[in-house]
Amino acid sequence: MKPQKLPNPEVVRSLLDELEGLWHNRASGKPPFSDDPLDGLVLTLLSQNTNDKNRDRAFGSLKARFLSWKDVAGATRQEIADVIRTGGIANIKAARILGIMERVFSEFHDHTLKGLKDWDTGRIRTFLGDIPGVGPKTVACVLLFDLGRPAFPVDTHVARLSKRLGWADPGTSPEEIEMILETVVDEDHFLGDHLNMITHGRHICTARSPLCADCPLREACEYPRERKLS
Ligand code: SF4
Repeated sequence: MKPQKLPNPEVVRSLLDELEGLWHNRASGKPPFSDDPLDGLVLTLLSQNTNDKNRDRAFGSLKARFLSWKDVAGATRQEIADVIRTGGIANIKAARILGIMERVFSEFHDHTLKGLKDWDTGRIRTFLGDIPGVGPKTVACVLLFDLGRPAFPVDTHVARLSKRLGWADPGTSPEEIEMILETVVDEDHFLGDHLNMITHGRHICTARSPLCADCPLREACEYPRERKLS
């Protein structure tokens, strides 16, 4: 990681608290973990290049069509693609799902990731990150949402906000931003802060036309002054 000055944790905390006051996404606490992290891994994979609604429809169709992950593993790529079509890039996602099933079975001799619950976080990161099509954001989502481990997933909204607020330099990669946030934010807040940043990015700090005049962070944010938006 290219060295860059870390943001002041107290300043970061106060701005994230502002977002919590605006969006109320559980500032702390644990999500309801899935019984099998394999569900979360496939769900997160299906979220690539689509919205939550289409992701959920594709996942629901997959669960309705196949009785178990073992059945999914025995299906053809075309059969899986036809079922998850609503989630977009179906052929690519179907191939990735089959790749996941193969890798999971070779490690656990079963189509389940319940065994990850006994692994340390570093080992889980390496194992999941080595599966083709499973990127750092997907790994962090499974860690946070399905295993209750400290991880701060960085999607396009979290990355944009982090850069505009000056927490990360313009060229910083999502993986580097994740390391920055996991360093300066208290891990009890990862879940709520991640959700609040996404909500803020979707509704106020949008990619093309951020609504800076309506943003509670505008006094601390350089972006509107740099762009002469205020
Ligand atoms: S002031 Fe504007 S650029 Fe800065 S965080 Fe708010 S909406 Fe985004």
